[in-house]
Amino acid sequence: MITSEQIAEAVAAAYDSHKANRNGKNASYIPALAEVDPKLFGVCAATVDGQTFSAGDADCEFALESISKVFTAALAVEQAGPEVFHRKVGADPTGAEFNSVLALELHNDKPNSPMVNAGAMTATSLISATDAMDRERQVVKIQSDFAGRPITVNEQLAESERATNFHNRAIAWLLLCGGYMYSDPMEACDVYTLQCSTMVTTVDLAVMGATLANGGVNPVTGKRVIAKANVSHVLAEMTMEGLYTSSGDWAYTVGLPAKSGVGGGLFAVAPGKLAIAAFSPPLDKAGNSVRAQAAITQIAHQLGLGLYDT
Ligand code: GLN
Repeated sequence: MITSEQIAEAVAAAYDSHKANRNGKNASYIPALAEVDPKLFGVCAATVDGQTFSAGDADCEFALESISKVFTAALAVEQAGPEVFHRKVGADPTGAEFNSVLALELHNDKPNSPMVNAGAMTATSLISATDAMDRERQVVKIQSDFAGRPITVNEQLAESERATNFHNRAIAWLLLCGGYMYSDPMEACDVYTLQCSTMVTTVDLAVMGATLANGGVNPVTGKRVIAKANVSHVLAEMTMEGLYTSSGDWAYTVGLPAKSGVGGGLFAVAPGKLAIAAFSPPLDKAGNSVRAQAAITQIAHQLGLGLYDT
């Protein structure tokens, strides 16, 4: 049994250990992300009984980006069912960058994972919606339900992404050609862009993770967000591709399902116990936050959370 004092101490220690680390660089291919203060650094752990423990800039909002893929995948699994989702999206690592076209070419156009851009757009397209606004409403609502507060799109950021997302648009058309796009491809790409442009705090992200750790029930609001049976599928997808080409290294060293975003956020889930989130904009070459990885690794080790520990 891990005590509140141990969690609080681990969070504070991880923040102190890594606050001076200046390695990595902000994502610059989305202009608005290049402008975020690289010194920001927040850490938070949230338990399955709804307690949160934070340090640093944990209340500062940042762009959810690819972490949105987790919640849209959860919604698509709920709506399509786990078997259909598995067949239409996949659950294998791509072994390539998050926006790789080569990965599609190598796998007969199957995206393989909802945690890369291609599979995320497929997942977005799988949501049963009447139009683009309804699709956007549903993906933002599931994010809000996971966080336990209303999450909103940052219009300026969305505009910055929309003005530069040609590569993602190309992927959406390739998915249509290959038979892995289930709505209008530009609608799926637009809604995917919007779901990436929502703003969360590190505390929000920890609560979102704690909802998964807690079997799909938000531990702060008490609301069931997804079925318990679907949580394991979402966590498996995170394990396989949550940190892109570093996913295997992460499993080897930390042993927890996790997901990163190019906004600098990262969260990891210790099922039945808690979630750890961290935010710091500078990224490594794989597109994962340098300090967020370091902080979460340290906390997971200190609290003995690795799933493969015996
Ligand atoms: N919106 C970003 C993109 O589509 C998200 C990528 C990420 O966070 N890895 O490129």
